[in-house]
Amino acid sequence: MGLKEALLEAHALREVADASPLATFGLYRLMLAALQWAMPLKDLAAWRAVWKARRFPPDALDDLARRGRLCFCLFDISSPFYQDATAKPFDNPVSALVPDLPGATNIAHFRHSSDDRTALCPACCARSLVALPAFCTSGGSGKQPSINEAPPWYFLPCGTSLFQTLMLNLPIPGLLPDWPSAAPSGDVPTWEGHTSGPGPVGFMEGLTWQPRRVLLKPTENTEAKCRLCGAPAAVKHKIAFLKGRPPPRDRCWEDPHVLWRAERGARPSPVRPGREPAASDWRVAPRAMLADDGPPIVRQIRELVRRGDVFGETLPTLGLQSFAFYTRQMRYSHAAVTAWPLPLVILAEPEVADALRAELDFAEVLMKDLGKARLWAEAAAHVGRDESWARWQAALVAFEAQAERAFGRLIAEVAAAPADAARRIAAWRRALRGAAERHCCPASSALRPLTSLEADRRFRDRLNRAFAAGGNR
Ligand SMILES: [Zn+2]
Repeated sequence: MGLKEALLEAHALREVADASPLATFGLYRLMLAALQWAMPLKDLAAWRAVWKARRFPPDALDDLARRGRLCFCLFDISSPFYQDATAKPFDNPVSALVPDLPGATNIAHFRHSSDDRTALCPACCARSLVALPAFCTSGGSGKQPSINEAPPWYFLPCGTSLFQTLMLNLPIPGLLPDWPSAAPSGDVPTWEGHTSGPGPVGFMEGLTWQPRRVLLKPTENTEAKCRLCGAPAAVKHKIAFLKGRPPPRDRCWEDPHVLWRAERGARPSPVRPGREPAASDWRVAPRAMLADDGPPIVRQIRELVRRGDVFGETLPTLGLQSFAFYTRQMRYSHAAVTAWPLPLVILAEPEVADALRAELDFAEVLMKDLGKARLWAEAAAHVGRDESWARWQAALVAFEAQAERAFGRLIAEVAAAPADAARRIAAWRRALRGAAERHCCPASSALRPLTSLEADRRFRDRLNRAFAAGGNR
């Protein structure tokens, strides 16, 4: 399915799905930039008109197809899609384009192949190119990462159809005065071939940022198969893969899908996924929806909900997909996509949303405290670090899994009866405490030379203090 067809049928399609979370998110961002290019929405009234029509205007998509013919062709001689026709030399293997293929001396992870045998089909080339703006990491020879530096955690609000999801993610001028990247004048997608100048980086420019100057050379008459999908390959020979646009450190840029945090008075920086596929994701993703300082596009949705009449029955629950990509030494360590539903009734009640966000803060502090208890237990017991670490780690993971389920229940219960939030929150606290005792007490009291009674008493003291400091419910 091509870009125009997907947008024309967006109201009948559920979502974008690709084997690679990187390509999935990259495709959403390409569609958003293309829509903003074809039919920039002037204001809230224009946005509402399209939302109510429940599909994208076909004439705008015809226009997109006509203009796109000039820049969405993968092997065009003068303006190949997401590439630079002047880039050379051709001295990088095709695998440079795809993080989940091993290349050069990086550690192989999912697949094993060698650079000289790697080839790609046209579709996989395009899917890899669209993932670069959001996920390109730094490379050798002074190659810099993409616009958000090391790939941050991305949060994509989702509706019940592709149409709703794309609409929810388009910037509406004037709705968020504190988001300069929404629609600055002169904003252009990269495929227009120039930047919009020294002002804030705009929505289209940011979503199509080109961290590499790439040029693919099609291979004629090859028998090779695509290393990713097995289709007949079109690019086998070396490609140009050079430094592109460096991150815009001297221009204002606030990515629509990134959660920004300022630590101890420093400049805000994006929240990034950790080294391990984390059990703690549930504490971050709902926060992106519940906190006042969530990603700009989520703040925009909160503003729409605050203004009342927009969604009605058409969107009872807002989904949030989070895309996490982490890599270290190997080119690809892990990538994940997780989904978090949030009933919109909660966003319509700021006090309830605040109370739930405070519970996430509490869970965060509690986890830190339990982590410290682990260190204390190790020191007190003089046991080998490995043994106690493993026991505690397993206890913490089990605790966290139970806490996540309890929080999911809390969200559902509070959505069903917002007036009853305080009582539900008290019950969730009790569940949290019960889970901590069940999983962490045995890990603590099994350690010697403290008597198990003494270790148990000390651990419960810590829990008492943690729950008292978190405010009794
Ligand atoms: Zn392929």
